[in-house]
Order: sequence, then structure tokens, then C-alpha cells
Amino acid sequence: MSHRIGIGFDIHRLEAGRRCRLGGIDLPHASGPLGHSDGDAVLHALADAVLGAAGLDDLGTLFSDKDPRWKDADSSALLSECMARVRAAGWRVENADIVIATEGPRIAPHRAAMRARIASLLGVEVDAVNVKGKSLEGLGALANGAGVAVQAACLLSR
Ligand code: MG
Repeated sequence: MSHRIGIGFDIHRLEAGRRCRLGGIDLPHASGPLGHSDGDAVLHALADAVLGAAGLDDLGTLFSDKDPRWKDADSSALLSECMARVRAAGWRVENADIVIATEGPRIAPHRAAMRARIASLLGVEVDAVNVKGKSLEGLGALANGAGVAVQAACLLSR
């Protein structure tokens, strides 16, 4: 059996009044990630990790933010399309691990729901997906709830 590891990163501004969709679920928060799609930085970073591990084109190449077809797109659907390509290449996900750095929405109360949603999108058990929220200690341009940055890693096998 062969294994491949992939990493992904994404960053979005948080805008007041926008729906706060992260990790495929809606969080109760006064601001949400700005983007051409729904702005779900968690699923974007994860998709790039999965695609990267499989040696496929990255998310921005497959679903350009200049393309009106992906305006307000549901990132769950984009990740599902990525997974179809990954499966077609013979790969399956072993696990995924995700760090969400933000001082916007609180992540901890929603970790379980996010893990379950992501596990279902990847076709794995919940214990194969982990999600951690990190605060920014008031440092840098993302502090004070201005944005959300996400790192993701994913292991594939075939
Ligand atoms: Mg993005």
C-alpha cells in the first residue's frame, strides 16, 4: 500500500453580517468569512490538502474565484467534487487534521459537529478527523476578529 501526505492553507477576512459558514456548518456569529464562494476557509484548506496529497490541481485552479459558476458556491459541494476526483485516482482518506486560527467565532463548542460534517464529506469515521481552534493572542492582522486562517493536513492511501 502507498501513502501520500498533503497540506493546505487558507485565509479569509471576516465581514460583519455575513453568514459564518466554517467546516461545513453555520456558526452563530456576528461576522462571517468573505469570499467568492461561501468563504468556508476550513473546507478550502482541507480540499487543498486532499488534492495536494493526490497530486491533483489545487482548489483555486479547479474552481476559480473569477468564475461566476462558483459565486456563493457551497464549499461542501466543492469538496465533494474534489473527493470524487481523488477517489477516481484510487485514493482514500486515512485521516485529516485541521487548525483554525481566529479570534472571531468560538470553535470549541462546534468541534464535534464540524468533525462529524467533515468526516461525512471525506467518507471516513469521525475519529479520523480532528479540528482545533487556536486564538491569536491579540497578535497580527488576524487579531480582534478580523479574519480566520486555517491549516489542514491529510493522509491518503491506495
Ligand atoms: Mg478560500
